[in-house]
Amino acid sequence: MKHCDLMKNTHIERLVPDHIKRFEAYIPSKPDDMLMKMAGCSRLFRLNNNENPLGPPPAARRIIEAYPSLRASVYPSGDAYHLRCKLGDLFGLHPDQILVGNGANEVIGFVIKAFCQEGDNIITADKTFAVYEWVASFSGFEARLVPLKDFTFDDEGMLSLMDERTKIFFVCNPNNPTGTYWSEERLRRFLDRVAGRQIVVVDEAYCEFVEQADFPDGMRLIAEYPNLVIFRTFSKMYALAGLRIGYLAGNREVVDIIRRTCVVYSVNGLAQEAAYVAIEDKEHVLATRTLVRNAKALLTHELDNLGLTYVSGEGNFLMVRLPMSDSLAYRKLMTHGVMVRSMAGFRFPNWIRITIALPEAMNALMEALFEVVKHDR
Ligand SMILES: *Cc1c(COP(=O)(O)O)cnc(C)c1O
Repeated sequence: MKHCDLMKNTHIERLVPDHIKRFEAYIPSKPDDMLMKMAGCSRLFRLNNNENPLGPPPAARRIIEAYPSLRASVYPSGDAYHLRCKLGDLFGLHPDQILVGNGANEVIGFVIKAFCQEGDNIITADKTFAVYEWVASFSGFEARLVPLKDFTFDDEGMLSLMDERTKIFFVCNPNNPTGTYWSEERLRRFLDRVAGRQIVVVDEAYCEFVEQADFPDGMRLIAEYPNLVIFRTFSKMYALAGLRIGYLAGNREVVDIIRRTCVVYSVNGLAQEAAYVAIEDKEHVLATRTLVRNAKALLTHELDNLGLTYVSGEGNFLMVRLPMSDSLAYRKLMTHGVMVRSMAGFRFPNWIRITIALPEAMNALMEALFEVVKHDR
């Protein structure tokens, strides 16, 4: 029987829970070769995923290049043992306070599965990394979305939506896509108000890009706040997005609970070894920050010249408002070989998010934006 015949079968329909019927699958972008064919361009600058154009730190590259092919046949460490020891050393935590996942994306599911049951809810912002909301929704839990205030997570608004069935707050710090952040004082105030009644997840996917003195290091707050869970990833600053590796850290008791929902062997051995050396490269972090700082200054200058509104904060990205729909702008920019993130999915219609990249890509973007905005081409 063909797949489509199967789907017409009413028995299948009966098997599907309501929250799955309501949920629409996320469609990832097509591979580069297909996109270039569709858009009719001969090269493509991907400025849509906040990847680091400098690539992985040199020591990680050496690990990847020298990886013994025979190791592909054996299972990796099922709990990223050595990497957890290294991270524990670096952050002053016990290795058992850390769980490594197949990207930070995977650990979102671990936390929700560990704490939510039927009738529970999670609280986050309306305009932030959408995966918190998606995982909650397709798992059958309510996601309460609090509008951003001045492009920033609204702490008071989040607290006012909290009730007996609220299990988790998700705070993205700094926020993707707005680049705004809570200072240490503001985060502490929020944690004090929550007073241990819910899990507070702080997603620090972009923390290594932040240079502000009042930005909190979540790892250092874990000892004081046992309900705090920190997410970090190797995808952004450490440029290992393709190997899929991220982690969470928290109080021992909380992590012992979350561990029950972990998928064993979900993190491959190459990712574990590359991450192990990448995390120590401080020069890589400084070089990336310099690249981002300089390219952002140039880009915002150009955006000012074009008279475009933008929001530029922390992180290796910024948001621009365009005088047209973001999906139209996306298609037009694609014909110039530049791929951005259209923001309707983040509930920012008419905005695009641009990843800060190398000068060649930034120049291509600025020329393409000029054509699209000034000449409607
Ligand atoms: C990119 C990103 C992640 C997760 O990335 P992984 O590749 O799954 O590790 C998590 N949170 C935010 C806010 C991100 O932008």
